[in-house]
Amino acid sequence: MTPRPILILMLVLLSGAALAQDKGTVDAKPLPPLANPNDPRIGAKELFGRKVLPAAMPTHVVGFYAHGCIAGAEALPINGETWQVMRLSRNRYFAHPDMVALVERLAAKAHKDAGWPGILVGDMSQPRGGPMFTGHASHQVGLDADIWLTPMPNRQLSRNEREEMSAVMMVRGDRLDVDPNVWTPTHLNVIRAAAQEPTVQRIFVNAAIKKALCREAKGDRGWLSKVRPMYGHDYHFHIRIKCPPGSGKECEGQPDPDASEGCKPADLAYWFKDSIIHPKPPKEPPKPKPPMTMAALPAACKAVLNAPDAKP
Ligand SMILES: [Zn+2]
Repeated sequence: MTPRPILILMLVLLSGAALAQDKGTVDAKPLPPLANPNDPRIGAKELFGRKVLPAAMPTHVVGFYAHGCIAGAEALPINGETWQVMRLSRNRYFAHPDMVALVERLAAKAHKDAGWPGILVGDMSQPRGGPMFTGHASHQVGLDADIWLTPMPNRQLSRNEREEMSAVMMVRGDRLDVDPNVWTPTHLNVIRAAAQEPTVQRIFVNAAIKKALCREAKGDRGWLSKVRPMYGHDYHFHIRIKCPPGSGKECEGQPDPDASEGCKPADLAYWFKDSIIHPKPPKEPPKPKPPMTMAALPAACKAVLNAPDAKP
């Protein structure tokens, strides 16, 4: 990726920040109904954000990670043997069934191979995908999932803890490497297990974490090509899968990342430039962008939005 799209992405990420460590609340109020839901100027996030359940339609992905939606999404159970879902108030634990299965598999591996009690799962997608009120440009089509870099504790978290508990910051104060007080070989194991899943196309981590993975990966290092540095991602890593088989043209994928490890100093130099590590605040606050409307989403998302609710 060239610096310019990255910069744009950074602004997008920073503008609506609800990050892994942002807190939620146990008594989130349902959103009030919209006065004019058919107004074409209304933000699609207002419409998708009010859908509490998936669309009762055959599962299919419509559009691209950062502009699209999903029909027939599945909920990840909020408690598994080896996982727990965080920030339940956001209602973003829905995904394509392939992604739900992958997260469950990864949770079992984190337990078995990394010795974690399990994983803490952050945002996936809204019940019907689509743009969100806070955070994430992507996560719109049920093919993205955030996994905390904090192991699941050995007990079931309360509803309140799931809203309030913070993930652990993995990056050292100078931003040039991971924090050796919290980074462990088990973190590599868990990220590697995700990257080695054949359907995973990309994993996003902070550049300091990528640097640590490059330094510490032993044996097969082919999986490193999937792990890409990205702004944010100091507390969690982001898993992105390809369009599932049989998706058809409606699911817009992206090309595979190139096959190199991305571990050469030149590959990481951009990320450790002072201007990137310590970005200057803009002279004027950036103008808020008009929200993405339904017209900006693929036309098929209208049917997904208007379909009846799937059974809970
Ligand atoms: Zn993410």
